[in-house]
Amino acid sequence: MSSPVAEFMLDVTARNPGEREFLQAVEEVLESIVPVLDRHPEYRSARIIQQLVEPERVVSFRVPWVDDRGQTQVNRGFRVQFNSAMGPYKGGLRFHASVNQSIVKFLAFEQTFKNALTTLPMGGGKGGSDFSVRGKSDEEIMRFCQAFMNELFRHVGADTDVPAGDVGVGGREIGYLFGQYKRLVNRFEGVITGKGLAWGGSLIRKEAAGYGTVYFAQEMLARRGESFAGKTVAISGYGNLGFHALEKLNELGAKVVTIADEDFYIHEPDGFKGEKAAYVHDLWMVHHQTVQAYSEHWNVPMQPGRPWAVPCDVAIPTAAQNEIDADDAKRLVAHGCKLVVEGANMPCTPEAVDVFRHHGVLYGPGKAANAGGVAVSGLEMSQNSARSNWSREEVDRRLREIMKRIHDACLETAESYGQPDDYAAGANIAGFLRVANAMQAQGVV
Ligand code: GLU
Repeated sequence: MSSPVAEFMLDVTARNPGEREFLQAVEEVLESIVPVLDRHPEYRSARIIQQLVEPERVVSFRVPWVDDRGQTQVNRGFRVQFNSAMGPYKGGLRFHASVNQSIVKFLAFEQTFKNALTTLPMGGGKGGSDFSVRGKSDEEIMRFCQAFMNELFRHVGADTDVPAGDVGVGGREIGYLFGQYKRLVNRFEGVITGKGLAWGGSLIRKEAAGYGTVYFAQEMLARRGESFAGKTVAISGYGNLGFHALEKLNELGAKVVTIADEDFYIHEPDGFKGEKAAYVHDLWMVHHQTVQAYSEHWNVPMQPGRPWAVPCDVAIPTAAQNEIDADDAKRLVAHGCKLVVEGANMPCTPEAVDVFRHHGVLYGPGKAANAGGVAVSGLEMSQNSARSNWSREEVDRRLREIMKRIHDACLETAESYGQPDDYAAGANIAGFLRVANAMQAQGVV
């Protein structure tokens, strides 16, 4: 760690004790922006960094609900409104047993830069609950979503804070959340993105994070005169993002050879094609099942652990934070992986990223590569405001353009700060400059 960062991190650590993921995300950004602060001392004197690492608002609340046995359950809900310099707070809701304040703060912090990279007018926020959708009935999910919204509604709004989905929050949950919001405020407004097509949603929104990640990776390959045709790709999570990445990769002639849940993975050496791909579509998004169901249905053994020991040309982690550590990274390198692109948020530990840098593996950071989801959320907001609907082709074209723009901004910024091909530095610096300039222009608020 460079010494100005180490010194600053002492203070951030003292103010956010035990928030491991949040501190990791902050440190990663700070490391990248040291050269910016050297070149622009005005950010230091305006204490932009001190302001930037402090969320504008953190809301934590009780979510009581009644399960199918009539038993009261109590979960904890969060909404972190991190930064509104670029627009209304924007970012997903995550429902997963692992959710805590550190995780929502790290996600909201990252979201601030990710959203800035899209160049659409969106600030950064994130929320969620330690509620797990797995094993719950539809009625339980509905009661939980309604209870969650009973508090959240007072903090959000189409021009204030616009949540969306994330891990554990798909079309069904968005529907229940939106319905309860509408009932409480008596207004039909674009308060959430990822809505159904018949009630304000956008075409391509559900595909956007997965397609966008692949479009970003395509740009990285194209710059080296390569394409996905014939490439072997390892992915992990097979939810909304993972499945749609798989679908686009199949379309581009790649072979996706793995999917994984938290404990096991499946290796399909010939790829998940045709009926197998259709089965993967339903596995989480319809049935909320683990890879055990796939293993039993297709008679393919499931393997314990993570999928990163499987030989591949490209790895696209699509599950959770810190799912690739230094040992996984070494295995990927040893088996010939040349490109790692983050579909999930912060899936590679800093040590893993060091391994990739050291071995010349090209690395696309999540806050740039997976920005397609929130980018199309931004397009959904525009369509809601204009009360219009764009065609599938129109939204897809805009998504591609945005991903290319983000890719080019990362490269150009990295280059201008003397770190050619360092997409992580480029993403952090480009995102930082946009947010910092907006904050400075708006004064001490
Ligand atoms: N959860 C997604 C993300 O991490 C989407 C957020 C949104 O659409 O607001 O970017």
